[in-house]
Amino acid sequence: MSPQKIRALLILVAAFLMIGVASGRKPSASVLAQAQHRAPAPASLRLYVFDCGRLKIVDTSVYGFAPSDLAATDMPVPCFLVAHPKGTLMWDTGVLPDNLLASGGSVTQGNPGSSAMATVTKPLKTQLAETGYAPEDITYLALSHCHWDHTANANEFARATWLVRQEERDAMFAHPSTFARCLTPQTFDALKNSKTVILKRDEYDLFGDGSVIVKSAPGHTPGHQVLFLKLRKTGPVLLSGDLYHYPEERAQHRVPTTDFNRDQTAASRVTIEAFLKKTGAQLWIQHDLTANAKLKKAPAFYD
Ligand SMILES: [Zn+2]
Repeated sequence: MSPQKIRALLILVAAFLMIGVASGRKPSASVLAQAQHRAPAPASLRLYVFDCGRLKIVDTSVYGFAPSDLAATDMPVPCFLVAHPKGTLMWDTGVLPDNLLASGGSVTQGNPGSSAMATVTKPLKTQLAETGYAPEDITYLALSHCHWDHTANANEFARATWLVRQEERDAMFAHPSTFARCLTPQTFDALKNSKTVILKRDEYDLFGDGSVIVKSAPGHTPGHQVLFLKLRKTGPVLLSGDLYHYPEERAQHRVPTTDFNRDQTAASRVTIEAFLKKTGAQLWIQHDLTANAKLKKAPAFYD
């Protein structure tokens, strides 16, 4: 072999070695962090329940009750993560944005358009991280409706695909703000530019296998919706949104005076009660304090 050929061969070997060293280089901290927070897709459907705060209700009369009529007047504010083999869905995003808790500890704050007082003790992002996810990992976002106790961290999920009804979206971005009382546009304004699926039918089967269905239940707001989940061990569950707040509303057929369209709420309730009967699903009233206390919270999950 000529000296030139030997030199060319050595250069080639050196080049291969350099490529090998380069590709074997340790990943940067940010890449590691990204890989670490992305949980592997579960083999079957999971439901995580997060503690996104609590509402102290000053005036129960809008729900048709005196405080003494109710088992509990406070309302929990849960957020939910649905993890399916084909993707993830956030359902509702809390009452106070995570950045208010940046300094640690709990935060109590009201809202000019509401008589309720909200307290949050743990950021949603921290609870999500404990389950192995970050907001940017989430595939889909759906809000039961646009009220402030459901939208607080919505902007964190602006990179997800947003599932919303046209009536709700219109109410959320109407100027001036409409009677739909979407009080905190600054918490959801980034969704305006999100990839969006406008839900037109009564039921939207998200993954095409009947296990995650976003279902129309208007009245509380123009495009209010509920979420049906078919869990393997737990069985079917329906997350109520604010179709009901207190279990007493369900038992005594009381519709809040502040609902956008009370007749529509009453009609939605009839439809949903029939749906529950047909599917055998449990109804989880999201704001029911007694029921919420019994739910296992993330990072534990229902499957
Ligand atoms: Zn609510």
